[in-house]
Amino acid sequence: MGPTERYLSIPRSDLAAVIYDALCGGVELILNDTVHVLEDDGDRVQVTFESGQVRDFDLVVGADGLHSRVRRLAFGPDEQFERYLNIVVAVFDIEGYRPRNELIAMMHAEVGFQAVRVSIRDYITMVIFTVRHDGRVPIESVSEQQGLLCQRLAGAGWETPAILDAMPQAKTFYFDSVSQIRMPSWTRGRVALVGDAAACPSLLAGQGSPWRWWSHTYWPPNWLAQAITAKRSHVTRSGSRRCCAPSRMPRWAWARRSRRRIGFSFCYGTR
Ligand SMILES: Cc1cc2nc3c(=O)[nH]c(=O)nc-3n(C[C@H](O)[C@H](O)[C@H](O)COP(=O)(O)OP(=O)(O)OC[C@H]3O[C@@H](n4cnc5c(N)ncnc54)[C@H](O)[C@@H]3O)c2cc1C
Repeated sequence: MGPTERYLSIPRSDLAAVIYDALCGGVELILNDTVHVLEDDGDRVQVTFESGQVRDFDLVVGADGLHSRVRRLAFGPDEQFERYLNIVVAVFDIEGYRPRNELIAMMHAEVGFQAVRVSIRDYITMVIFTVRHDGRVPIESVSEQQGLLCQRLAGAGWETPAILDAMPQAKTFYFDSVSQIRMPSWTRGRVALVGDAAACPSLLAGQGSPWRWWSHTYWPPNWLAQAITAKRSHVTRSGSRRCCAPSRMPRWAWARRSRRRIGFSFCYGTR
């Protein structure tokens, strides 16, 4: 990078492609399929995929994010673990948006929402909206999601109307609830969770990406070795499948700032 190039943007899909190439066929990847049923008999986990394929694995590690299917299948419904923070987030790319400020992230905040505009490469601008929203969150429909943003941001100042006008032309559009995941245990039998699937602190808390890399260090001591080598009785010793004491979990992941305070710093509730 040159002296004036202070940051570099790497689209997530480009990073995924680099990792994919680096694997060079040395690891089996199953693409365009997903887990449908998990059956842990203590000696192995039988996985039925949506395609109908059935395979046995020594361990299953769910690294499938905030809305983890592995978590739902092995630990139960999301409602037990997900705390919605009454905020939704939308991230999208607009090609050729003006004004454009190179190497600068512009932020605008009003009561109830925050907008960030970042110039990334190839004349593309990335927009991030975090918006207070107490009602139902439309998860499936992009048109409903964009409608919700238009409704919540009607009358907002700065460049908001121009950004909303450009939004339907977005090259990519991401929308989600802002939630935290809190669980008493991140392992159950031969299934474990890492990253957001285990303990999403929400984007408001930051640090989610590094947490993805070291969350496994909070699995119970020797869980991995035991799960690979032990007989059924070792893994599910004393009939309890709750292996990880809550005290071992890093409190910062969700307790560093209260839910209200982290929400306020992004989307003020009042003047
Ligand atoms: C708008 C926004 C801004 C953020 N900013 C920051 C930041 O500045 N710094 C920071 O540290 N963190 C930030 N975060 C948080 C960070 O992105 C997450 O904490 C991190 O990506 C979690 O990594 P993960 O691998 O656990 O889950 P994810 O990154 O969510 O990855 C999960 C993967 O699993 C795949 N998947 C999901 N379900 C299935 C399935 N059923 N079958 C197969 N695959 C599946 C998904 O496609 C995805 O590739 C931000 C998050 C958001 C939403």
